[in-house]
Amino acid sequence: MSRIDALPPLREVIAAHGLTAKKSLGQNFLLDLNLTARIARAAGDLAGADILEVGPGPGGLTRGLLAEGARHVLAVEKDARAMAALAEIAAAYPGRLDILNADALEIDPTQHLSPPIKVVANLPYNVGTELLVRWLTPPAWPPYWESLTLMFQKEVAERIVASPGSKAYGRLAILAQWRADARIVMELPPEAFTPPPKIRSAVVHLKALPAPRFPAPADGLQRLTATAFQQRRKMLRASLKGLHPQISELLESAGIPPTARAEEIDLERFCALARALAQDG
Ligand code: SAM
Repeated sequence: MSRIDALPPLREVIAAHGLTAKKSLGQNFLLDLNLTARIARAAGDLAGADILEVGPGPGGLTRGLLAEGARHVLAVEKDARAMAALAEIAAAYPGRLDILNADALEIDPTQHLSPPIKVVANLPYNVGTELLVRWLTPPAWPPYWESLTLMFQKEVAERIVASPGSKAYGRLAILAQWRADARIVMELPPEAFTPPPKIRSAVVHLKALPAPRFPAPADGLQRLTATAFQQRRKMLRASLKGLHPQISELLESAGIPPTARAEEIDLERFCALARALAQDG
């Protein structure tokens, strides 16, 4: 294992600070600094950017980001046990790392960062999808971030980049592809992590588009896709009937046959339906 900085290997850091992985926090750590540097590079040029890193844990990816030249990193970690290890990294990179002991779902990172801002994270599944949806659905666009480089379980990564008609197509594909270019840039086997999870993982890179591909209200599109894909095998006139008393007419006005199923409908038509629902709501 090569060294990217003068700090101790991550196994020693974990032992020195008693950072045994906690399942409740979804802790599967990356200990290979070559790998964390590769993930950092997947975020593009870091030199002129501020980075929001969510869930740094013992700091493997944080060290990758700093070694790859990030201008400034804000690392938000819920686990107080990681603070001392992260403070050692901050000392090795004076003035370039701020650490926040907080729940990423409860803070506003923009107060601590200057544009251009990139988000990089290796997060537990449930927090990751919740944050992704929040990052993709602010009312105004473009958002504060330029790109998101996020580790997910592979199955979730496939849902983000899925096309209509595929099994993985759903709310995440629509919200991601509506306002961003999304692609899978790296796959990792379970053995890359300590402890190894049961599933494979993948890194998704999302680049914010200057404007959404089609106009639609963010909250309406989110509600619509959540409802439509809750019962993905049902006809839309049935699965969406709770959203509007004349749902069949609205579906037709958006160019969608009322007997179609959610997985057959592309992004453009979902946006048209979200607009029709907002106008007629
Ligand atoms: N980035 C490290 C790495 O790659 O080795 C750790 C990744 S581990 C999969 C996820 C990290 O997210 C853990 O350190 C965990 O404590 C942290 N975490 C979990 N929920 C969080 C939350 N709501 N806010 C901030 N950090 C969280």
